[in-house]
Amino acid sequence: MGEDPASQVYVRNKEIACEACGIYSEKYALPEETTQEELLSLIDTLNKKSSISGILVQLPVPKHIDEETIINAIDPKKDVDAFHPINVGKIMVGNYDFVPCTPAGVMELIKESGIDVSGKECVVVGRSNIVGKPQAMLLLHQNGTVTICHSRTKNLAEKTRNADILVAAVGIPNFIKGDMIKEGAVVIDVGINRMENGKLCGDVEFETAEKVADAITPVPGGVGPMTIAMLMRNTVKAAIVNN
Ligand code: NDP
Repeated sequence: MGEDPASQVYVRNKEIACEACGIYSEKYALPEETTQEELLSLIDTLNKKSSISGILVQLPVPKHIDEETIINAIDPKKDVDAFHPINVGKIMVGNYDFVPCTPAGVMELIKESGIDVSGKECVVVGRSNIVGKPQAMLLLHQNGTVTICHSRTKNLAEKTRNADILVAAVGIPNFIKGDMIKEGAVVIDVGINRMENGKLCGDVEFETAEKVADAITPVPGGVGPMTIAMLMRNTVKAAIVNN
């Protein structure tokens, strides 16, 4: 909904990924002034439409729309973002079909890099419902020892320097510096921040961090593409679950 330029880029990239994977997709670019009732009515139509396996509403929605009401309206079996409370609860108990795409992408990067999470000190900086919290849960399911940090955390650098695996999902450019990272750590940068010069940068100061880290993800080109890949995976799973 609306004209948010970042959202438009994200939605376009998702459309391109669908085309590349051979997944049929429909896009509804709703004007800013669309009412909540109109949006709910569209979701209801798509919930009932048998040719649609997965639905996502690109966030953020305009201020007059209640995000929670919208998320709750999506059929949990079609909730490919895994934001519906039923899917959030399933992740908590460890028996789930869908995982939120960004944390799932982080786990896939870790797995594909041959990194074993079991017994490792994992520190997640950020506790949002879409990244930080589910990320912590997924690391816990892999037997990591998990610490979640946030804006009220005291002595943050002390916590991050303890991490064997550090996930930064803060939304502040270059927030995590090299001297906050343990020698040999695995550093995953979820942040996507647009600088004044138009360039993208992460939450980790790459130049100083790469000198101490054993493995580190770049921004752009790290977690971002994985997020979209995981959305495709969730959609294929949804097609299986719904048939
Ligand atoms: P939110 O703004 O929802 O959450 C940010 C978190 O960072 C909050 O938990 C906040 O703490 C914490 N935080 C803020 N300031 C500090 C601080 N000084 N010290 C420690 N913690 C702090 O952001 P999101 O989780 O939605 O996104 C985080 C980043 O990831 C953004 O840059 C976003 O663009 C990016 N992102 C990237 C995606 C991708 O595909 N790669 C997908 C989704 C997001 P508190 O809770 O106390 O306020």
